[in-house]
Formats: sequence, C-alpha cells, structure tokens
Amino acid sequence: MITKTNAIVLRVAPYSRTSHVVTWLTESAGRVSTVVKGAVRPKSSFLGQYDLGYTCELLFYERARNGLHVAKECSPLEMRSGLRSDWQAFVAASYICDLVLGVALPTHDGQESTYALLGEALDALCERRLEPAVLLNWFELRLLHVLGYAPHLERCVSCGADLAQQKAGFDAAHGGSFCLNCLPQPVARQVVAVGPDTQSVLRRWSSAPSPELLRNMVLNQKQLLALRAVTGTMLAYCLERRPESRDVAVATLGWKQGEM
Ligand SMILES: [Zn+2]
Repeated sequence: MITKTNAIVLRVAPYSRTSHVVTWLTESAGRVSTVVKGAVRPKSSFLGQYDLGYTCELLFYERARNGLHVAKECSPLEMRSGLRSDWQAFVAASYICDLVLGVALPTHDGQESTYALLGEALDALCERRLEPAVLLNWFELRLLHVLGYAPHLERCVSCGADLAQQKAGFDAAHGGSFCLNCLPQPVARQVVAVGPDTQSVLRRWSSAPSPELLRNMVLNQKQLLALRAVTGTMLAYCLERRPESRDVAVATLGWKQGEM
C-alpha cells in the first residue's frame, strides 16, 4: 500500500553504503521510518530532496513487518535554508527534532498538534523571530502541553492553595508545584524554587500558542533559569532519558541550567 503525506525530517542516518534511513514526523501517520534506497548514488532522484528540518511531500510503501517502510518519492515543500546559514538556529533545530523523535509515536492519534508545533518552531528558528535559547524554552513547554504533561502551576498540587502570590516548589515527580506548607521534607533534589513572578511567566508561556507572543516579553536571569529548570526536570521525568542533543544545545547556546 502506498501512503502519501506531508512530513518533517527528524533524522537522517546511514543504512548501507548507498542508502539512508530517514525518520519523519508525518502529518497523517505519526512517526515513520523509511529506507531511502540508493539515496547517495549520483543519479538518485532523492538527492537534495530531504534533510534535517525539511517539510516534504512523501510517498512511501507501507511495510507492516519491522516498522521500516520504503520511500517511493519525496519532494521538499519547505527547505528552511535559514537553518543552514545560522549554526545556533541549526543546533536548536537539531535538538527539537531529536526531542520529537523521542516522544512521537508511530500512530496518527494525537500527533497532529506535535506536527503543527514542530513546523511552527522550525519556521521561527529559520526566520530568527526569537533567540534560539528562548524559543527552545517555549517549545519544551508547549510540547509538554501537547503531550498531556502540562505542569500544574496555578494551585498547590496537595492543598489547592492559589500560588499566584506566594513562593512554591515545583516537583516534576508530582507534575506541579507545592505551597511551602505542603512541600514534602526533606526537599527532593529535583524540586525547583519558583516565586510568584516566575509562576506568572510560566503560566503565560504555557498558554502562548505562538512564539510571536513572547517577542516583547522581557525576562530576568532568575526567571529564565527557573523556566529552564522546570521544563528540564519535567521532560526528564516524562521521557525517562536525557537527550544528548539538549546538552549540545545548552553548551552551544549558552543555555545554562541544563538540569535534566
Ligand atoms: Zn499546599
């Protein structure tokens, strides 16, 4: 059976001397891996048709057995060439593609929002609408929302107290913040201290469906660090792994507080 769908390239890996395995997040079939036979042969029709972060129109033969399908045709719809002339944006794009590779499922259900979010983040990086480090923060928060792991920030997860005006401790293991009266003692290593100002930033960022809305928002260093720590511990808890690409992004972009 042949499937036709739009798809974003998450990873390109060698498969044999002349072939690639390309992993995609598709618009209609979830995460899909395809063999691209003869991909690197000089006369291959696939040459230049796909690369990390491209959105392509993809036709592939579905192979039920080992989950590895066979690419039939592919043509780029959006090459995002800006990513290739801006190494910081490229590092950030590599990280978000790798992150999605780790969380996307090989099924269509619930993946449409991830597909739209990834495309929007890659466009924003390509056009440098925001600093890459800031965009990564936004992307991580939105991805958690899309995956159903939105951190609970407004009320204490134990007693329900409103946290808008008080200090709190965010604990990824509980998926949200505790007021200081309820925070379990001794305080666990992964708990991040968040003040009312940071809480409010987190709430606004969590509900910003587009990175455009963050453009005029000024954050101080303390808020940025808390934000990164909250998403970092939350992702580590949900993914149960530490993507190396996040370390690379942290080191390259001066994106401190790699608590993960
Ligand atoms: Zn409480």
